[in-house]
Amino acid sequence: MMIQRRNFLKVASLTGVSSVFINSLSAASNDGSTSILLDAVSFKDKGGWKVDPQFIEQMGSPYLLAHGMGIPVANAKTTFTASEAGDYQLWVRTKDWCPGAWEAPGRFQLMVNGKLVETLFGTEAGWNWQKGIKLPLKSGENKIELVDLTGFEGRCDAIYFTKNEADSPPSELKELRIWRDKKHGVKAPDKGEYDLVIAGAGIAGCGAALAAAEKGLKVALISNRPVLGGNSSSEIRVHTLGIHGKVSRILKKIDTKHWRNGSKEAYADEKKRHENMDNEENISIFYDYSVDTVNMQDGMIASLEARSNVSPKRVIISGKQYIDSTGDGLVGQKAGATSRYGREAKDEFNEAWDKHGDLWSPKVKDKRTMGTTVMWNSMKSDKAETFPATPWAKDVAKSYAEPTSEWYWEYSSNDKHQIHDAEDIRDHMFRAVYGNFSNVKMNPLNAKYKLEWVAYIGGKRESRRLLGDYIYTMSDITNSTYFEDTVVEEEREIDAHYQKALKGYVVDFISKAIFYRLKKHYYIPFRSLYSKEIPNLMMAGRCFSCSHIGLCGPRVMNTTGQMGIACGYAATLCVKHNTNPRGVYQKHIKELRTLIGFTKDEA
Ligand SMILES: Cc1cc2nc3c(=O)[nH]c(=O)nc-3n(C[C@H](O)[C@H](O)[C@H](O)COP(=O)(O)OP(=O)(O)OC[C@H]3O[C@@H](n4cnc5c(N)ncnc54)[C@H](O)[C@@H]3O)c2cc1C
Repeated sequence: MMIQRRNFLKVASLTGVSSVFINSLSAASNDGSTSILLDAVSFKDKGGWKVDPQFIEQMGSPYLLAHGMGIPVANAKTTFTASEAGDYQLWVRTKDWCPGAWEAPGRFQLMVNGKLVETLFGTEAGWNWQKGIKLPLKSGENKIELVDLTGFEGRCDAIYFTKNEADSPPSELKELRIWRDKKHGVKAPDKGEYDLVIAGAGIAGCGAALAAAEKGLKVALISNRPVLGGNSSSEIRVHTLGIHGKVSRILKKIDTKHWRNGSKEAYADEKKRHENMDNEENISIFYDYSVDTVNMQDGMIASLEARSNVSPKRVIISGKQYIDSTGDGLVGQKAGATSRYGREAKDEFNEAWDKHGDLWSPKVKDKRTMGTTVMWNSMKSDKAETFPATPWAKDVAKSYAEPTSEWYWEYSSNDKHQIHDAEDIRDHMFRAVYGNFSNVKMNPLNAKYKLEWVAYIGGKRESRRLLGDYIYTMSDITNSTYFEDTVVEEEREIDAHYQKALKGYVVDFISKAIFYRLKKHYYIPFRSLYSKEIPNLMMAGRCFSCSHIGLCGPRVMNTTGQMGIACGYAATLCVKHNTNPRGVYQKHIKELRTLIGFTKDEA
């Protein structure tokens, strides 16, 4: 049972604001009489193509992805208006996501006014405008379709028609954004004003929103996806681990228990999360909006700007306090906060574990992190099922052939940054999954196996960690240090992953976990949840202030949910006492702990 996107849509309130945005769906954006720009994500009917919002930072926009798991997806369709008839030069912003000595796996064509355009798109390496043929458009309404040819992750960002031969669209990202906004007539973003603005709607972001809203704060929650829950959502499918601590009442509203990946119970938990969030009247959820700009004033965050993933619309959202729950510490990074990435040297915080040596922590700090997973499912059908050959996946999958999958399908590499190279990492996992499945199908014993589901949103475990007044480390966990400002408690083991390839394993996309078992609870101080430099910024989730090993226990989602709830309550005290998070630590920490549920004598 798939939860329908429309059931989740809650229109965020933008009271008293006028929009000057020109919709490019029915009347194509047009900078005069001679050119038309269409964003693929704005197509009215997306057919089987998916909106992929993950890589805006790297390639400039959300795009449509033909995620058919080897079966070409249904055409995406829309109409647009040309003010002049005539021959137009066609450009398509796309990418061959796996270039090599084979036919590009993501090939597609366009159909314009019922005629297939002969140019094959998705055949040139790297995101760029691929030049097509010249073709005639009618004056008035024209029809356009994206025709997927492979079912293997073709991607289309935008389509540009121009009558002017010398007019080629810009490639450089900053210039491209300005050019697109101008073409679409996006002149001024809409505005909303809130007490608390949260970026990222994983369990941490949702927990923060509920805690603050219940106490009367007006909250904006910006979600770059149509579903809430981050890694626990149906788009990624991880259940929430860790304890509920003192905040079970709120976490029960948003968690996902350990159900089978994709089961009806997992969907029921997602539905529960959406109902509880959507029904909270103090929360405005901006679904399908990606934060891409942080505006600063006097060293504080003045507002966040976000772009829609399904239209060229932008919003600007301001608040008194901000919480970065993007997992990637994106708000903090754009605000100029310092961060860490990768593993600390073992001696920096005494995090050595001799039994595992470098696999646990290195002599010299490095850029290694836990990796990204593309979750997938297979099923046994009652008949023989075929699967296409995938020569383009061979280099990655080699002869690996596992008919089922688990969390340990995970990829990280010293050479690939979990944020800057996120699309390459996700695509590497596509090659692993599809190449593996082609291999599986070569064995007649697997004839009835069928790919049931493959995620296209990568599940991340670790990337940027923002720095707070306190950096949480392994010894805080193993010593069960109880802080005067403890706001989160956990008991889960420290669980650090490494790529099995480091020990000579045949493929590079399978990981192994090392568990450091614990006998006692451990505790996280509030000082690790607010930025040491940006006075009105807190961080809840895997981007909190910690070392690499310090993250390896509390990165699970009930724990990050506890962090979010602590930050949500802290935001209410910031408003009540007209202070910032550090002021809450310095003067109101008892009140914060009481709100969370810690008793006076607890230590
Ligand atoms: C395969 C796998 C298995 C795991 N197993 C478990 C497990 O069993 N149990 C468990 O609890 N944890 C597990 N983890 C770890 C856990 O899921 C992560 O550490 C988790 O992501 C932490 O939650 P978070 O809220 O910090 O981040 P996320 O869940 O990643 O949430 C961040 C949210 O912010 C959104 N976002 C990012 N950028 C923007 C932007 N610019 N604008 C708006 N929104 C944005 C993201 O789309 C996402 O929805 C697993 C992780 C993986 C990948």
